[in-house]
Amino acid sequence: MQIADVQDEIDHELISNADIHKKIQEVADRVSEDYRGETPLLIAVLKGAVNTLAAFSQALHIHAEMDFMSISSYGAGTQSSGTITIRQDLSTDVRGRHVLIVEDIVDSGRTLAWLIDELKKRGAASVEVFALLEKPARHEVPVDVKYKGYEVPDEFVVGFGLDFDERYRNLDSIAVLKPEVYQGE
Ligand code: 5GP
Ligand code: MG
Ligand code: MG
Repeated sequence: MQIADVQDEIDHELISNADIHKKIQEVADRVSEDYRGETPLLIAVLKGAVNTLAAFSQALHIHAEMDFMSISSYGAGTQSSGTITIRQDLSTDVRGRHVLIVEDIVDSGRTLAWLIDELKKRGAASVEVFALLEKPARHEVPVDVKYKGYEVPDEFVVGFGLDFDERYRNLDSIAVLKPEVYQGE
């Protein structure tokens, strides 16, 4: 789905599909050099990071494995709290593996801080992060993101995996919704 398909619902486009793929290719080139001779395990947190993982894995020049985790974070309102429950765990033993977490967006950083800690506890040989988007203004905990895509302003963004109420994940670019879309929520 493209912006033109839902023009009435979109306030403005932030990052085009072409720019997303260009950035992902740049990061994938770097990662391919850094992990040469290794087969990293790419881990995506469902569901938001799925689109980024798909594009990123195809842009790599090296072998890579993939796995997925579904987690929920409970807290007041829309903020993630850092109290994380695993809904669906990995199927891979990460012990001794070079793990690269692929994230859609780092907002408070709490989900990521928890996941990095959890993977290290499980004995991963190394844990690094690629985040397509980052909202630096909203970080609440220090997060060490080695591979960064774009910084975005403190606005709620959708598309390329990111949802509002489970919709817009299949939008091929990153965009900001019109305020009326949220009305009644
Ligand atoms: P955290 O606050 O723990 O860094 O963010 C956790 C998750 O909240 C992200 O992985 C993402 O799924 C969701 N999230 C944070 N900011 C946004 C946003 O602007 N748009 C959407 N659709 N999801 C967001
Ligand atoms: Mg995420
Ligand atoms: Mg969501």
